[in-house]
Amino acid sequence: MLRYLALAAFALVALIVGQGFGWKYVFAPLLGWAFIRWALASLRSMAAGGTPAAMERENAPRVASTLRERTMYWCEECGTELLLVMRGSGVIPRHCGTRMHERVEVLGGGQAPADA
Ligand SMILES: [Zn+2]
Repeated sequence: MLRYLALAAFALVALIVGQGFGWKYVFAPLLGWAFIRWALASLRSMAAGGTPAAMERENAPRVASTLRERTMYWCEECGTELLLVMRGSGVIPRHCGTRMHERVEVLGGGQAPADA
């Protein structure tokens, strides 16, 4: 409520200043305030390791095939199969001009997982 009152008072003052002295005295400080807010927010996120570091973590390669399951890609055209060892991105590889098909195999044998 107080916030809306302050906003209304600010709008009234802006209207009076804009009508009396010219709108440049209203819009120039507003533009400066917006720019400073944007610049500080950008610097804050950079200092906290916001966007760039988070993007780096998201795009970091991760293991796609383990002893328990493996990720395969196969080409429908020629039958080529690929074993994906490290996943660098979510982009599906292409072969013979078409997208390959992903297949995740759960490997049996060896030790059975303990259920209880
Ligand atoms: Zn192929």
